[in-house]
Amino acid sequence: MQIDVVSIFPEYLAPLELSLIGKARQDGLLDLKVHDLREFTTDRHRTVDDTPYGGGAGMVMKAEPWAQALSSIAEAGHAGEKPVLIVPSPAGERFNQALAHELAEEEQLIFACGRYEGIDERVIEWAAEHFTVRPMSLGDYVLNGGEVAVLAMVEAIVRLLPGVVGNPESLVEESHADGLLEYPVYTKPSTWRDREVPPILLSGNHGKIAQWRRHEQYRRTAARRPDLLDGFDATKLTRADRTEFSDLGYDVVDGRLHRRPDMPVNDQG
Ligand code: SAM
Repeated sequence: MQIDVVSIFPEYLAPLELSLIGKARQDGLLDLKVHDLREFTTDRHRTVDDTPYGGGAGMVMKAEPWAQALSSIAEAGHAGEKPVLIVPSPAGERFNQALAHELAEEEQLIFACGRYEGIDERVIEWAAEHFTVRPMSLGDYVLNGGEVAVLAMVEAIVRLLPGVVGNPESLVEESHADGLLEYPVYTKPSTWRDREVPPILLSGNHGKIAQWRRHEQYRRTAARRPDLLDGFDATKLTRADRTEFSDLGYDVVDGRLHRRPDMPVNDQG
C-alpha cells in the first residue's frame, strides 16, 4: 500500500516511523511519504493561509498550495484512476473499524491534514474531479489539526494489511471485529493482590472458555456500548447466547436483537 500525507507539520507524523508501522515500512509492506504543504507555495513567506471571506475568527487554508500538492502526489502515484483522498474533518463521516477494513483494500491513500479553520471548500470540490474524496472524522470533538486523526486512522488501517501484525488471529478476536467489544483479558500470576483470574480460564476446557468469553463480550457491550447491540444479527446465536442476551434485557425479533424498553440500563462493565 502507498500512503501520502500532506501537512504543514511533517514532524507531527514522526511516530509513523515507530513500532509495527515503522517495521511495515522497512519490510516494504507500506510505502509512506509525508509531504510539507509549504513546499507547494510560491511566495517568499511560503503562505498557506489567509483570512476568511465573510469575516469571522481564524484563518482558512488557501486553495492553490493544496491543488499543487495533491496534483503532484497523484502524478507520482500508481493507483487506479481516482486515488482515495481522505480529508480529516470533525464534519466528516465517523471513522470506524469497518472503514479501516474498507480502506485497507486500497492501493493508495492520500491524507490532507487541515489546520486553522480548515481548507478552502473549493479544494474539496476540485479534488472530487480527480480523487475519491472521503471527509472523515475521528469523533465528535475538535482537534487543532488533522495530524492526530491521521496517526490514528493510518495505524488502524495499516495493522490490517497482511503481514503487519505477527499473529493474524489477534485481529479476529478484537473489539469491533465482530461488532462487539472484546472480553476482558488476564495474564500471570493467577492471583495478584488477592484478586483471582476467573477460574474458567484455568480450566483447560476450551469450549467453556469460548462461551465465557463470548458472554463477557455481550455483558461488556451491553453495559458500555448498548448502541452496538440494537439490531445486532442474532441468527448465529446459540440457545445459551440468547438466554444471556435475554438476561441482559434483549429480545430477538426477526433475527435481530432489540432492547426491551422496560429494562433498566445495565451497569456491569
Ligand atoms: N472549523 C472546523 C469545524 O468546525 O469543522 C474545525 C477546524 S479544526 C480546528 C482544524 C483541523 O483539524 C480540521 O481541518 C481537521 O483537519 C482537523 N480535525 C479537527 N477535529 C477533527 C476530528 N474530530 N476528526 C478529524 N479531523 C479533525
